[in-house]
Amino acid sequence: MFRRKNEYDILNQMLEDAMDGTFQEDVYDESELSKLQVRWKRYLSAASLSEQERNREKQSLKELITNISHQTRTPLTNILLYAQLLGEQELEESSREYADQILSHAQKLELLIQSLVRMSRLETGMFQYHVEKQTLEILIRSTVESVQAKAAQKKIEVQVCVPEKGFPAACFDRKWTAEAVENILDNAVKYSPPQTTVTVRPFARELFAGLTVTDQGAGIAEEEIPRIFSRFYRGEAGKDKEGIGVGLFLTRQITEGQGGYLRVISEKGKGSSFSIFLPAGESFQTERF
Ligand code: ADP
Repeated sequence: MFRRKNEYDILNQMLEDAMDGTFQEDVYDESELSKLQVRWKRYLSAASLSEQERNREKQSLKELITNISHQTRTPLTNILLYAQLLGEQELEESSREYADQILSHAQKLELLIQSLVRMSRLETGMFQYHVEKQTLEILIRSTVESVQAKAAQKKIEVQVCVPEKGFPAACFDRKWTAEAVENILDNAVKYSPPQTTVTVRPFARELFAGLTVTDQGAGIAEEEIPRIFSRFYRGEAGKDKEGIGVGLFLTRQITEGQGGYLRVISEKGKGSSFSIFLPAGESFQTERF
């Protein structure tokens, strides 16, 4: 009985060390351990080594991407500047087209590099979300504001449905979540024909609160929906529009990284609804709109 308790305590201690990341192989002398403890120790040593290896890989990937972003910044800024200057010159039609092409591809490259840096930060998990419980009002109003100019160009009306009981609250990082919402709103405007309406509707459930963005645009075929969140995926609707296929990938990373999730309902040719669910927090009151 005494031996069994002692054995259990050692196994438990090993597991606790492994979970804290403080497991050290040489603390446990194999000649004093039972068969089970020896196997447990070997397993945990291997697991801890592969965890350290994973962290090293994450760190070097992050450094590599930061270096690429740093080293490309100056030449890219110069290409953008010279392409703009060239575009301001009196040019023959074919030369003007080349200048426009250089500018547009350099802008795309800039966007790609910025997105790669964001993706690497999110995927390596090497930063902290500053999650606070707050209402969705500022988040919704500021992100809607950021797409208004593009919407106005296409005469698209972006409507916010204000709930009778006021905007619900949720737990989220304002800056990162704004990026997630902006991606969805930006798509709604980009993939909708002119003179349609995009609606933003906040909602509250027992455990989650969030918002649904509904458009009257191209819609997405059912079999395509699982793919639209993949990195660099550009779908049917994306073919004749600007974009690099990372918006929804980032949106999913940001939402899930804060304990939330996304839901899409769409019908080809009719429109789409993208919902972002964010944790409502413990003291959240259930409300329905
Ligand atoms: P991008 O817009 O740059 O292509 P995203 O990751 O934001 O990249 O979207 C991936 C794909 O999902 C798009 O290329 C498009 O086919 C589809 N998609 C996203 N939002 C919508 C929408 N509101 N309506 C129709 N299709 C959409």
